[in-house]
Amino acid sequence: MFRFTTIKDYHQALQANTTSCKEAVQYYLTVIRERAFLNAFLEVFEEEALQRAADLDQSRAKGIAVGPLHGVVVGIKDVISYQHHAVTASSLILSGYKSTYNATVIDKLLDAGAIIIGRQNCDEFAMGSSNENSAFGPVKNFIDPSRVPGGSSGGSAVAVQAGMCMVSLGSDTGGSVRQPADFCGIVGLKPTYGRVSRYGLIAYASSFDQIGILANSVDDAAITLEIISGKDDFDSTVSDEPVPSYASLLHNQTASRKIAYFRQALEHPSLDVNIREQIETFISKLIAAGYQVEPIEFEWLDMIVPAYYVLTTAEASSNLSRFDGVRYGYRDSQSANTLQEMYTQTRSKGFGKEVQRRILLGNFVLSSGYFDAYFTRAQQVRQLLVTRTRDIFSQYQAILLPTVPSTAFRLGEKNTDPVEMFLGDIYTVFANLVGIPGISLPLFKHINGLPFGLQLMTSHFDEVTLLRFSKQMMQLAQTPA
Ligand code: GLN
Repeated sequence: MFRFTTIKDYHQALQANTTSCKEAVQYYLTVIRERAFLNAFLEVFEEEALQRAADLDQSRAKGIAVGPLHGVVVGIKDVISYQHHAVTASSLILSGYKSTYNATVIDKLLDAGAIIIGRQNCDEFAMGSSNENSAFGPVKNFIDPSRVPGGSSGGSAVAVQAGMCMVSLGSDTGGSVRQPADFCGIVGLKPTYGRVSRYGLIAYASSFDQIGILANSVDDAAITLEIISGKDDFDSTVSDEPVPSYASLLHNQTASRKIAYFRQALEHPSLDVNIREQIETFISKLIAAGYQVEPIEFEWLDMIVPAYYVLTTAEASSNLSRFDGVRYGYRDSQSANTLQEMYTQTRSKGFGKEVQRRILLGNFVLSSGYFDAYFTRAQQVRQLLVTRTRDIFSQYQAILLPTVPSTAFRLGEKNTDPVEMFLGDIYTVFANLVGIPGISLPLFKHINGLPFGLQLMTSHFDEVTLLRFSKQMMQLAQTPA
């Protein structure tokens, strides 16, 4: 029977003819069917994926050179545009809409030989931390289906966790790749802002959004990153910094091993005690292994979630104004007598509660009487953070933090108080506010039996160091104390 460990092993098996792309796709289609109750996929591209696998098998047999993601079975979050395929951002407002073009990441995946198996459930417009805000029902955590998988890329995380594809692409505006990776016990990588093109990604907050990777291993994340990164004429915010060979550079040692963590982060009252203890034990292990790990002061911890929600809702209120019932998807004009009524009805029915809340909040913080009190101040906080971050990286190579203050909670448990849900983003939004790369590594198991991760961040465009540290830490976690 087909068994997946890493992309590298899969490629060796393909070369040795002990498996085929078709066998891989058939295997994943079976698992997707068996685990449909998890609600991870909104649509499976069954026929297409089988056909593509057969074509790839044939070209390999003919000796045509194979791409770096040859036959790799990838799932995509339902915010990434794939030509002639539906994309809904898990929202009713995009019902019936099909993309007319490919996101740049899709072109890059296909050029590298990947097989796209389907589109994955998520929080509506990527707004949420539990995948309970989807118009198509929540996704369930495979480890315990009474619990959330995290969000907003919940379907993408569960698809990897439950073996429904090899790798998923998600998006991370404030933690949506790293947080579900933490809850599901897998690797979640958010690259530097500007490393990967956002062309064809449905926008939530454009100065924060970044496409990220959910994978079983650091190696698989590195190979995928190498493919999807790089300059793009369709997105002027993408850097033209050359793309390093992440997959091979990953194995080298880091130049130095100086890592900081925020004292206030580990002492924060919202942090689960067992998570704190296990991270502290791991820090001691790192020190024993020769790393220099030091606490630093970070007095702005409690400001970052408010700053994040002011700025992202402001950007969202502008980005989502295009969904008006005229241009895309759903329109409610039955009892509307005026254009204004049609807008109102379409948006009232097409957008879910959380999306409406954020559009309203965004309009509020941008309104003339409140602009300076909220938006300007939040921008100032962002600027302070950028300066402070530069300072930290002049002395340290990486920052270490928890990914989330708790393990996966129960479905419905945090639905009544939106602020409580927002505060769970305390450790992840920092990387998006300043634009640096971050990863969540599945290193720990809580005394309650659930997995949780360690978050690492490095300076802008230093994914090489991030991946090297990640690889080393995954190995170190395996070695007995
Ligand atoms: N949980 C955060 C939010 O609700 C992050 C979402 C994201 O990264 N897309 O905004």
